[in-house]
Amino acid sequence: MTSIDSVISFIKEQYKTEAFIPLHVPHFGGNEKKYLLETIDSTFVSSVGPYVDQFEIMMQKITQTQKAVAVVNGTAAIQVALRLLGVKSGDEVLTQALTFVATANAIAYQNATPVFLDVDLDTMGLSPKAVSLFLEEFGELREDGCYNKKTGNKISACLPMHTFGFPVHLDELLAICNTWKIALIEDAAESLGSEYKGKPTGCFGKLSAFSFNGNKIVTCGGGGAIVSNDLKLGEKGKYLTTTAKIPHPYEYVHDEMGYNFRMPNLNAALACAQLEQLYSFLENKRKLAKEYESFFATSGVKFRTETPETKANYWLMCVELENKIERDLFLETTNKNNVMTRPIWQLMYRLPMYNHCYRDQQVNAEFLEERIVNIPSSVR
Ligand SMILES: *Cc1c(COP(=O)(O)O)cnc(C)c1O
Repeated sequence: MTSIDSVISFIKEQYKTEAFIPLHVPHFGGNEKKYLLETIDSTFVSSVGPYVDQFEIMMQKITQTQKAVAVVNGTAAIQVALRLLGVKSGDEVLTQALTFVATANAIAYQNATPVFLDVDLDTMGLSPKAVSLFLEEFGELREDGCYNKKTGNKISACLPMHTFGFPVHLDELLAICNTWKIALIEDAAESLGSEYKGKPTGCFGKLSAFSFNGNKIVTCGGGGAIVSNDLKLGEKGKYLTTTAKIPHPYEYVHDEMGYNFRMPNLNAALACAQLEQLYSFLENKRKLAKEYESFFATSGVKFRTETPETKANYWLMCVELENKIERDLFLETTNKNNVMTRPIWQLMYRLPMYNHCYRDQQVNAEFLEERIVNIPSSVR
């Protein structure tokens, strides 16, 4: 087994520094300053402007979707996607407990209830088998969709998350959702640039959500996007996130309770400059992943790689330790030595606001929770 010390020196060599190595920092190597200054000079710093439009077009191309809507952050993108699909108070939304808290929060903002189902060991994302087992036990198909026959609530959406950029088993999940008339939304916040069977994540769900927070692969300070291949739904998304305003030359006409979830043009300028570099970031990160893969191959530590027929964006890279004791030792030693590492999230049902929610046997999620650690993954 490779010693933790050799892991530490390997990571320091990769980043060519003895100073603190963070998990993931932004890389501004393109037109960021130019576009930002241009935006300030134009005075169009707020919620409308050419960069907002350009950002939406770029996102449509990257995700191969008909409509992209720039929004204020990834959490808002998920919330609005749920609302667009009619998720309402009392509904149930199938998702994974092994996720960042925003996934569950977005469901709760709609006054809906998350149902936590297990993940697969290979993808670390929502397990088709777990969804299928749950629906066979509790699902009841009615005229207007799927209901939970035990609670009587409507099961109105399924929200898988592509953990750290590793795509979930989309075909299997889509087939199950189709059978049970449940809409699938991808929480693609972590998977910009990842591919499933040759197509980008985000183009499979009825709607999908992306994040451009400071720690993501591409950042604009804070920001998000909703994408869809359903043009009507996408346009409705734009309208809802821009205060549900009916176009009028001078009157304020709002015919629904909308949101001010717009991405300012200032942030969109940064987002455009960053998106221009997405493919070079992906290449750069893939190289680092290869280095890690061969380094860890001869150690007792398992470096997590992409699954067959997928391409991961390697947003946050991670290793799987033997057990919790080994994990804790790894975390402590690396962090003490200027190399930032972090355990995967606590499962959602451990958090006080979600501990009353239904969950299945979380065998895989609990296995991963004790073993997965993120390691430095920034573009070099
Ligand atoms: C980052 C993230 C979000 C939320 O994005 P914000 O832009 O921070 O609101 C949602 N889901 C997952 C899985 C994330 O990692």
